[in-house]
Amino acid sequence: MLIGTPKEIKVHEYRVGLTPAGVKELRAHGHQVLIQSSAGIGIGLSDEAYRSAGAEIVDTAQEVFARAEMIIKVKEPQPIECRMLRPGQVLFTYLHLAPDPEQTHALIDSGCVAIAYETVTDARGGLPLLAPMSEVAGRMSIQAGAHAMEKAQGGNGVLLGGVPGVAPADVLVIGGGVVGYNAARIAVGMGAHVTILDRSLPRLNYLDSLFDGRLNTIYSTVDALEHYTAHADLVIGAVLVPGAAAPKLVTRRHLRAMKPGAVVVDVAIDQGGCFETSRPTTHQNPTYVEEGVVHYCVANMPGGVARTSTFALTNATMPFAVALADKGYRKALLDDPHLLAGLNVHAGRLTYQAVAEALALPY
Ligand code: NAD
Repeated sequence: MLIGTPKEIKVHEYRVGLTPAGVKELRAHGHQVLIQSSAGIGIGLSDEAYRSAGAEIVDTAQEVFARAEMIIKVKEPQPIECRMLRPGQVLFTYLHLAPDPEQTHALIDSGCVAIAYETVTDARGGLPLLAPMSEVAGRMSIQAGAHAMEKAQGGNGVLLGGVPGVAPADVLVIGGGVVGYNAARIAVGMGAHVTILDRSLPRLNYLDSLFDGRLNTIYSTVDALEHYTAHADLVIGAVLVPGAAAPKLVTRRHLRAMKPGAVVVDVAIDQGGCFETSRPTTHQNPTYVEEGVVHYCVANMPGGVARTSTFALTNATMPFAVALADKGYRKALLDDPHLLAGLNVHAGRLTYQAVAEALALPY
């Protein structure tokens, strides 16, 4: 199969859909790969590295889209990219169609086969192509929070791990899923005093055995939220209710009871946020203060560490990309119900129920 990866064109998007190692893998399976010139330049992946891995470097996205049978990228196609898709061409990338009628109509009209990373499933009911970005965001949330706690950033001037003779910071992680676990791991590693709230007892059991007494696991109730937010130096919002907006668990009233200069990092901001006072921010201007509490609400945290995120994402997408290329999309989808769960648009029709319902379109 001829596979193509264009340079991402969304503002400040430096990730890339294939790494040189991915190109080598596809070449080893007998496929050809086109990479748009400078696609990986922002994260130190040169055209030469792709060329040595066996890719053909082409100058324009137009050439990639015109020639490739399958496009592998990172972000949802922008309008100019949607116009370059053609009937039967496979598009494998993040799509997030439910809130995006414009892109959905463009993909339907193109006749392409659009497989969304975010709806591919695994045998344990997880979302294996979303998990790597949650791992990145969870780990990053603590470094972002620790930085925001510095006085010059508006924080309360507490060092996460303390020092001998001085207590460490109190870190509260709300939601102990992929983001929450990874946040806790880094916070514990940096010596903070960590509490995780979750409303899933099996999850709390799992975290308790994993950390073996190095953090507190607490069942999430209104009372627990009130108590632990009031004592925290840093709160990480990491809840997810699948298919729904994040619940506003921490209200303005809770915030008024928090320590002045405490920090909240609302990782769930991409689902609307779990703090009443959250609004999306950017890497250029990541924080603002409400009720004396510093808010960090970057909606695209993994983009800030685009190199790590690219490798983490492509590690997860590669087996599916290889299956699609080796078998052709029809057989690959029919052989693997988890990959089939990723199919959102096929031959001019929506094939993903939740998207169809969200946009009131035929399915
Ligand atoms: P996950 O499903 O692995 O974990 C969510 C956890 O929240 C679950 O353990 C669940 O039991 C818990 N939960 C649900 N309701 C709760 C409540 N009322 N109180 C306490 N816990 C509750 O999800 P995840 O992969 O960890 O993602 C968490 C959030 O982070 C999602 O909204 C995701 O979209 C977001 N995210 C954001 C970024 C970013 O750049 N901002 C990046 C990756 C993920």
